[in-house]
Amino acid sequence: MEGESRMEDRRKFSREQALIEAERCLYCYDAPCEKACPAHVPVPEFIQSVRTGNLKGARNIIREANPFIEICGVICPEFCSEQCIRGKIDTPINVRQLHKFVTDNTDPEENLEPAERTGQKVAIVGGGPAGLSCARELSRLGYKPVILEKDVVGGIPAQEIARTRLDEEIAGKETGFIVKHFVEEVKRAEVEFVGDLLKEYGAVFISTGLEKEQEPDIPGTDLEGVFFAREILKNVRKGQKSPAGRRVGVIGGGNVALETAAVLKAEDPGRDVEVIYRRGLKELKAFREEIEEAVERGVTFQFMAIPREIRGDAKVEGIMVTRARLSEPDESGRRRPEPVENSDFFIPLDTIIIAIGQKAGEKFPEIEKTAAGLIKVNDKLETNIPGVFAGGDMVNGACTVVESVRDGKKAAASIAEYLERGKA
Ligand SMILES: Cc1cc2nc3c(=O)[nH]c(=O)nc-3n(C[C@H](O)[C@H](O)[C@H](O)COP(=O)(O)OP(=O)(O)OC[C@H]3O[C@@H](n4cnc5c(N)ncnc54)[C@H](O)[C@@H]3O)c2cc1C
Ligand code: SF4
Repeated sequence: MEGESRMEDRRKFSREQALIEAERCLYCYDAPCEKACPAHVPVPEFIQSVRTGNLKGARNIIREANPFIEICGVICPEFCSEQCIRGKIDTPINVRQLHKFVTDNTDPEENLEPAERTGQKVAIVGGGPAGLSCARELSRLGYKPVILEKDVVGGIPAQEIARTRLDEEIAGKETGFIVKHFVEEVKRAEVEFVGDLLKEYGAVFISTGLEKEQEPDIPGTDLEGVFFAREILKNVRKGQKSPAGRRVGVIGGGNVALETAAVLKAEDPGRDVEVIYRRGLKELKAFREEIEEAVERGVTFQFMAIPREIRGDAKVEGIMVTRARLSEPDESGRRRPEPVENSDFFIPLDTIIIAIGQKAGEKFPEIEKTAAGLIKVNDKLETNIPGVFAGGDMVNGACTVVESVRDGKKAAASIAEYLERGKA
């Protein structure tokens, strides 16, 4: 792909930079960074190990809390750094880059103690970050996790996130490592119902993520030249050329929109790629880095623009939008865009990419769902069917890798408790 360069390579710490960064840590008592991390990585403890040069120890400390240590070292939005006390003095510690420094300079096979698996089999439907984290924890507790996966094991990081952000070596290596050491078996299957799974397995964990994309309620979405963003990301990740033309509009303001815009620009730097968003720069929902990468690659923005109609004669010729002004905050806490009278204008385009959000599929009809189609669980992540647990995006809506890790770990503890109860 033309213009391909991994952003994280440019942000890597040298040994000297890592030591300087580790020296800045205040090693807070009751550290807010550790509490803020959904996987509860003991941040000051691992940074202390980096400071003393014990990188193997640092890897073990992070890995104990988070099986997705390599992937989070590249794409975690750093809930920890947001709470870093050092940020009140000058700038927060760059925790994620310290993770990356540790993983780049240590061998995952060292100090590994996979447990002997003698317990029951547990079915894990969907082998993304939530499913694989659950598998690792169950395996360490002596159970036999079996992954039922319809596509490539690894979920979104392995199937969709652009190689320019997370390359195959990292995503594939980490997933392969977890499967090799902690998974009893991977079965290729697209599961639609819980059905008989409870007859074959002691318990079931559903972590199938969000399968579908939201469609805008505007005319013209059926024209040739209109595509959904995640489909494009999936195909480009597999090495295929995207079907995008020379003038591309990406509707949306979240991570998927910004990532798709950056990928299309990286694929062909000569093509115009514009993000069309109803609100302003401050309201973009994408992570800061996604925005930075898109800007660095030359993506442009049409802010305060409400899409009205995709126009064209069989093929896309452009989009009519109305200028917006921001009014009071809505239920999301962001200011609501309102149309400005007589402000419609036309943007000529040959390709439109829709990236306005993800939604759950219709599988597992026997399980109670929310109005948005997400699986309902109690505080143990158990569904309305005893022995069937769920977590990750399928429960929370679109979230992050480390939040899915949190759910996988929690579900494993609940499943072990459930199976122990069954023995009594
Ligand atoms: C483009 C994009 C960029 C993102 N960027 C970031 C980022 O930078 N940082 C970050 O932390 N998070 C990011 N996220 C979010 C993150 O990837 C997700 O929150 C996380 O992957 C959710 O994990 P999960 O295990 O719940 O689901 P998924 O990762 O979606 O995994 C679900 C798995 O289940 C399988 N599956 C689905 N249905 C079935 C079925 N019926 N039977 C069997 N298998 C099935 C799928 O093939 C998949 O492997 C991004 C998401 C997207 C879409
Ligand atoms: S996993 Fe993410 S939130 Fe947790 S310590 Fe690492 S970078 Fe911070």
